[in-house]
Amino acid sequence: MIRILLFSLFLGLMGCSSSKKLINHQHKSFNFSYLVDLQNIKNDQVKVEFLVQGISENNLEFCLPKIVPGIYGAMNFGQFISRLKAFDATGEEIKTKKIGTNCWSLEGASDLAKIEYLVDDTWDVFDMNMEEGFYRSAGSSFSSDHFVLNNNCLLGYLIGYENKAAQLSIQRPEEMYGATSLQGKSGTKGMDVFEAESYHDLVDSPILYAKADTSILKFPDIEVEVAVYSSSGKRLAKELAEHIRPLIENQRKYLGGKLPVKNYSFLLFHNLNPDKYSYMGDGLEHKQSTLILLYMPLDLKVIKDNVYGIASHEFIHTIMPLGIHSEEIANYDYNNPKFSKHIWLYEGMTEYFTIHMPIKNKVQELPDFFRVLQRKIKESKQFDKDLSLTELSMSPMDKQDQYYNVYLKGSLTNMCLDIELRDFSKGEYGVQDMVAQLLAKYGPDRAFKDEEFFEEIISLTKWPGMRNFIEQYLEGTTPLPLKDYFDRVGFTYNEGTLILSENEEASAEQLQLRKYWIDQ
Ligand SMILES: [Zn+2]
Repeated sequence: MIRILLFSLFLGLMGCSSSKKLINHQHKSFNFSYLVDLQNIKNDQVKVEFLVQGISENNLEFCLPKIVPGIYGAMNFGQFISRLKAFDATGEEIKTKKIGTNCWSLEGASDLAKIEYLVDDTWDVFDMNMEEGFYRSAGSSFSSDHFVLNNNCLLGYLIGYENKAAQLSIQRPEEMYGATSLQGKSGTKGMDVFEAESYHDLVDSPILYAKADTSILKFPDIEVEVAVYSSSGKRLAKELAEHIRPLIENQRKYLGGKLPVKNYSFLLFHNLNPDKYSYMGDGLEHKQSTLILLYMPLDLKVIKDNVYGIASHEFIHTIMPLGIHSEEIANYDYNNPKFSKHIWLYEGMTEYFTIHMPIKNKVQELPDFFRVLQRKIKESKQFDKDLSLTELSMSPMDKQDQYYNVYLKGSLTNMCLDIELRDFSKGEYGVQDMVAQLLAKYGPDRAFKDEEFFEEIISLTKWPGMRNFIEQYLEGTTPLPLKDYFDRVGFTYNEGTLILSENEEASAEQLQLRKYWIDQ
């Protein structure tokens, strides 16, 4: 769901798109509405008012999330809240008590009308310094010329009311434009009003406020907004959007001609790095947008390469886990999350699609494909080989130092599965087809049962080796026999140097399986 990239001279990318639709608000009233004041900021703190009507419960709990979907570290957003007060409809203060880092109990709240508080930003500068388990793409930053807003930092929720519709009004500096996939309309001058079907939707919709620098890519089936803030002051949206355009085409082709969403927003935040040789990128996917943070020099080639890489991975997330996920993700509990064991699919398959798509679509040559695979293999050697992908998936918060391996071992495991399925079906069926079948059966509004999912895949793929593959390489820690797999497709893999090359004497059978797999 999120990918953190920290390389010298590496490539990464990301993207997002969204569009704002005008909605007629006249006949709709909300029991929950938030007012966020970005105009009057003191001490780097934003004032938030949460207006409530129609609740008659005596005991309520108001919380900020401990963690949000897509990240696997506890960020405890309650720690950034201060001076929280609650009031009833007559303006009388209601007694509140802090219970833990993220929650407050409201005693005798039978007539709750308002909760107000101040919020600190979670980060000030996006640079190379990163803290394990602390994902800045899930956080917020307030500055005089931009705001990176993740609503999980600003907005709290009443426990039990997370599924209720809500309105969000943001008082913004007049010269700023808010890019987001949230639906909404401008209210009065300097005020944006957005609507969301639930608290989950608010959390799923980051907003980037800055001087407008946006570009819209129009396709017959999707409209993609690219909004950029660069601390360099340079306008980059148009050029980056054109760079993303072929990515959308390639993704559609790879996904069988259909894209899962109609509107998408890429929100790009670029902080200028004076060092030419070190870059950092961080992206977090959402249903209809991706927020991408970049720390790199103002070198358009570097920025484009990175944006493309991150956008490619994050956009595939519109399928997994946003379109295919378990109940643990569908009914996300922000303060007591339960984890699914299928991160091999959500992140591992997403990353496999990301590296498989260019070679399959013939926009990459074999030597470049080899380099990508070699890097995955080399980097994965640094991680604990006795930790299975399902075990990592179930306790990601405790295994932060191992988490990155899901992009490495996770993608390589799916590559091996793809080769097996293509071999078994004589090229007719691979992991792309498996994912398409799962998407058709489940989709964004129908979650699967975590415990039953492997059985489902076993019957879906019809490959007799599937159960054994799951037991050995997903639930177990048997090392992937990479040399054997590469040999089957006519590649030579040196286990000592980790170098991949073409086997010049590959048999017709090996070349046939290679063709089934990567169409080369
Ligand atoms: Zn991801």
